[in-house]
Amino acid sequence: MKLHTSSHKAKSFQEMNLAPALMTVLQKMKISKPTPVQSQAIPAGLEGSDLIAIAQTGSGKTLAFALSLLTTLHQKPQARALILVPSREMAQQIYKVFLELCVEMPVSVCLAIGGTTGSKQANQLKKNPRLIIATPGRMNDHLSTNKLLLQNVQVIVLDEADRMLDMGFAPQLKTIQNTLRGPRQTMMFSASFGSNVEAMAKLFMRNEVMMIRSEKAEAPVSSLKQKVLFLDRTMKNDRLLDELNATRGGVIVFTGNQDSCEAVGNYLQEYGFSADLIHGGLSQGQRNRVVRAFREGELRIVVATDLLARGLDVPHVDHVVNFDLPFQPEDFLHRIGRTARAGRSGEAITFVTPSDTRMYGRIKGYLKDAEEIKVDPRFSFIDRSKKDRPAKRR
Ligand code: AMP
Repeated sequence: MKLHTSSHKAKSFQEMNLAPALMTVLQKMKISKPTPVQSQAIPAGLEGSDLIAIAQTGSGKTLAFALSLLTTLHQKPQARALILVPSREMAQQIYKVFLELCVEMPVSVCLAIGGTTGSKQANQLKKNPRLIIATPGRMNDHLSTNKLLLQNVQVIVLDEADRMLDMGFAPQLKTIQNTLRGPRQTMMFSASFGSNVEAMAKLFMRNEVMMIRSEKAEAPVSSLKQKVLFLDRTMKNDRLLDELNATRGGVIVFTGNQDSCEAVGNYLQEYGFSADLIHGGLSQGQRNRVVRAFREGELRIVVATDLLARGLDVPHVDHVVNFDLPFQPEDFLHRIGRTARAGRSGEAITFVTPSDTRMYGRIKGYLKDAEEIKVDPRFSFIDRSKKDRPAKRR
């Protein structure tokens, strides 16, 4: 696989030759100028190139693939497309964007995700929808009963590729790839480009691949203000109340696991906050209800696990609180990317406790201009190198 860097950057949507119906919708959406990733990815996508774009959520990547993909479907009436994403929430969000874009275009779209009835989806899939938006697990399930569901799929989008691989979807992606026949274009979007992402790209792509790297993709956006609070674990709950009382607007509180998520969510409800919680242990119906209530402003605060760190696009998230640090540094970047989106300002507040020594070291790079506050004046990190050393024998 040969990687080329793209030098062509379109300055406007007008010069991209998008399907006319899309230009009308963009106007309605009040989207007038392409973001950096769009200005490179859309022309490359329209040329039919295989492409890898290193872009995080908030960079406008959904429209980057959506506009080129829909223009291709418009130009090739026989062609079909498949979008694979790591979570149901992301799939639903992308589905909504496509429904909005397709108001003036006759493109049938099918959502194939877990948590909803499989038989209804299977019937929709049998009708050969032009576009399938799926999670790899569910797509694979459908393919196991009918290998021909992806006939004539000529455009594939692998969104959040790194995340899909982190979540262990490599076997499903390989099986899906195996059922694809005929010429096709693959567009891969990923927040990072490690060896596993590269291996997956090799499997799906042809020899010549366009690589788009937005310089800012691996750094927080400049409209984000950050604050780090150094405190003892026992101080977290009180401090959270103080911080939330000082905020207005939407807040996502990120916790490290389902237990912590439940505990913090219940605690905030006891204190009368307009808060609810969401994690992978809840049913899809419950998850949908919380996301919808938050999106529509009925709920001000959502307490979440990293299930929501990526993809969730709710413009009115003004604050993100990292109540617990994540287990992977990239998740930190995705969490704080939930606020300060599309040019808005936002704030991220991060709690750091003495036992966070290792993870703090790994996310420090994302906290360069953060205000640092020692809530506990005696705060110091636990030196694990000493603690883990076996005691000397007498
Ligand atoms: P995404 O990176 O796809 O999650 O998009 C983040 C947000 O940016 C979404 O709310 C989009 O509607 C918005 N957006 C995408 N492209 C543009 C653009 N060219 N101008 C302004 N906002 C945009």
